Amino acid sequence: MTAPKPKRSTLDLIGNTPLVLLKGPSEAAGCEIWGKCEFANPGASVKDRAALWIVRDAEAKGLLKPGGTIVEGTAGNTGIGIALVANALGYKSVIVMPENQSKEKMDTLRALKAELVLVPPTKFSNPGHFVHTSRRLAEETEGAIWANQFDNIANRKAHIESTAPELWEQMEGRIDGFTCAAGTGGTIAGTGMGLKAFDEKITIALTDPHGAALYNYYAHGELKAEGSSVAEGIGQGRITANLEGAPIDTQFRISDEDGLEWVRRLLSEEGLCLGLSSGINVAGAIALGKQLGPGSRVATMLCDTGFRYLSSLYNPEWLEAKGLPVFPWLTS
Ligand code: PMP
Repeated sequence: MTAPKPKRSTLDLIGNTPLVLLKGPSEAAGCEIWGKCEFANPGASVKDRAALWIVRDAEAKGLLKPGGTIVEGTAGNTGIGIALVANALGYKSVIVMPENQSKEKMDTLRALKAELVLVPPTKFSNPGHFVHTSRRLAEETEGAIWANQFDNIANRKAHIESTAPELWEQMEGRIDGFTCAAGTGGTIAGTGMGLKAFDEKITIALTDPHGAALYNYYAHGELKAEGSSVAEGIGQGRITANLEGAPIDTQFRISDEDGLEWVRRLLSEEGLCLGLSSGINVAGAIALGKQLGPGSRVATMLCDTGFRYLSSLYNPEWLEAKGLPVFPWLTS
């Protein structure tokens, strides 16, 4: 066994996450489905990577000065990553978040010393949207930068430079497909670009939740959303700068019910407690694995920990109120 090398900085704990073979999903797909354990990042989500790359990029460009402030609009996970990175580097963080996101994310952000600004959830076209509010706050705050994860391509660069080479190495160059859902699109675009640079034949698939517009865009060239989803952190209605030029070969649309079924099975059969975007990604990976056929090897992202959703995804009243199936052991 080789233990991970000791690190000299807490920031070096970001990335280099483990990769695990998922038994149930592999059986369902008839091929190997691998999950990248992003919940093992210090902030317990994939977004620590983007946060670190965005902050390092702003420093390198001379935009962020010692003691400065980082402002960001986020569904929560990027804010948690930014707050951690800010604390480690001596910056302040101001995080704008829609008030319908999980209570655990809000409590975590407050605990991490971030200044939390909650706004009502609205359409992107509304000036009160969390993204626009965060941009305005950054402009109004002396010594502040706006992280701008949606359109700042330092986000996808994190995945070109870390996620993709890690996967290539961990899968020993034998990887036939990769898929995940998009929030900013940084993960799918960056990992896709990075993997294609190793081997152009790797199939990159977008897994889209209901209520997002990207499935129709990649399938039919039209940004059109249908239905809705309770998944946090994913579901995009436009082509962000991070998504521009993303090498998407194929696409799947996955329902909350199918995603939740994999959240339930991965917890009860394999001991992994995950958020809903991970379940949706796994369902997408199974669809891709079936398409690529027996013997293929597919990887996806296990984006964040389920401990972030104990008051929602793992709470029977919440599930019932959303009309979603309740995990049987929660009712007994
Ligand atoms: N899953 C979760 C739980 C997230 O918070 C995010 C980030 N918004 C994603 C998936 C999607 O990642 P990306 O922004 O890189 O598309």
